[in-house]
Amino acid sequence: MADKYDFMIVGAGFAGLVLAERLSSQLGMRCLVIERRDHVGGNAHDLYDEAGVLVHPYGPHYFRTNSDRVRAYLSRFTEWHPVTYKVQSYTGGRYWSFPVNLGTYEQLIGREATEAEFKAYLEEKRVPIENPKNSEEVVVSQVGWELYEMFFLGYTLKHWKIHPKDLAASVTARIPIRTTRDDAYLREDFQALPRDGYHRLFENLVEAAMPVTILLDTDYFKVRSKFECDHLIYTGAIDRFFEYGLGRLPYRSLLFERESFTPEALTDRLSISGKPGFWQPEMQVNYPNDHDFTRIVELKHATGQAISNSTIIREYPASLEETQEPYYPVPNDESKAMYKRYAEVADARSDVSFVGRLARYRYYNMDQVVAMALKEFDRLAQRIRPAEALNG
Ligand code: FAD
Ligand code: UDP
Repeated sequence: MADKYDFMIVGAGFAGLVLAERLSSQLGMRCLVIERRDHVGGNAHDLYDEAGVLVHPYGPHYFRTNSDRVRAYLSRFTEWHPVTYKVQSYTGGRYWSFPVNLGTYEQLIGREATEAEFKAYLEEKRVPIENPKNSEEVVVSQVGWELYEMFFLGYTLKHWKIHPKDLAASVTARIPIRTTRDDAYLREDFQALPRDGYHRLFENLVEAAMPVTILLDTDYFKVRSKFECDHLIYTGAIDRFFEYGLGRLPYRSLLFERESFTPEALTDRLSISGKPGFWQPEMQVNYPNDHDFTRIVELKHATGQAISNSTIIREYPASLEETQEPYYPVPNDESKAMYKRYAEVADARSDVSFVGRLARYRYYNMDQVVAMALKEFDRLAQRIRPAEALNG
């Protein structure tokens, strides 16, 4: 006979683990979590590499949020290490202040300038477009062609293999453009990393979800007949769930190349990094026009880890076929239309909740996924215990 659970949860990323914790600790539900990888945490997983440096193996995960609920909830499982995430862009043989700000303009004209001068420059260069419809229009309507071609066109083509004209406006709109000297990469009020790493945060979530059962190294589609459940929570790719019946959704993927440096090797980089013990000048350097990689991340800048070695990770864009890892949904009109058809079928399934970045096919950040999982918990809790007021 098949093992029976109240909830079967596919995927142990933020979406799956938050729901496992809530359902188990608040409602006493028996949960089974099935995870294909050999660890929990999904793409937000982090680890100490061979040199002892804390790294993000699936790309840098900069936690940020404007949601009090998400922050309060996650703060039960971690302390925080506040960070202002800093990024530079490398093009034309030099490092540029990025995202575009007054400092970038000063580098461009080769002298100090005022905010008023920069605003006048932008006013002259920007292309007047009232409602930017795509990722090219969003940028040129703010900064004009010159800065767009320096920083955005090549990066976007490399990352997505799609012209910015054919990508939703929301993609490049993620990047702020400022006329002040503020060069923070992100806009949200709260920006911090889990003080002891995401892996510790996830361990604490799992601990709080006890007696949850977690099966690692297990593909749901290979074992599903072995288990029974009252309700399924699915956080994998939505098109896979429906056996691609409505078409294959496009995804973009990445390959990661890790390189570690000894303190001696880092000494040789001092003229470039400007900081002893580091390989590059900031946590992240974007390469819009040079090389096959899009960015190099040296997380030690952000974690503040006291260690004399350092590790960098280069990110190479790749197709889904190359890696089998659907890291990015591709936001454009065609994929939106296809997803909408999947969502209609998904929403008709009262026995399944589709939660998270892959199941909802949206370019969500971590906090948005946590918010979605908490909201789905509220909905399920209402269904299971309508009379009880649940806190949390
Ligand atoms: P995931 O983390 O993808 O977890 C889904 C899990 O389901 C995976 O572990 C997968 O192995 C598992 N799974 C899928 N199918 C199956 C199956 N058939 N059987 C068993 N298991 C299965 N967000 C930020 O807020 N800040 C950032 O700086 C940031 N940077 C990012 C950088 C990169 C390169 C990427 C790819 C994402 C980034 N994100 C960032 C987004 C962040 O990763 C997601 O918002 C978050 O991890 C989504 O959580 P999730 O649970 O929905 O999905
Ligand atoms: N982008 C760009 N140049 C940059 C940084 C970003 O053109 O130097 C564009 C690119 O299309 C990218 C999008 O803005 O995919 C969002 O960038 P973000 O850094 O938020 O990407 P993520 O960390 O999600 O990969």
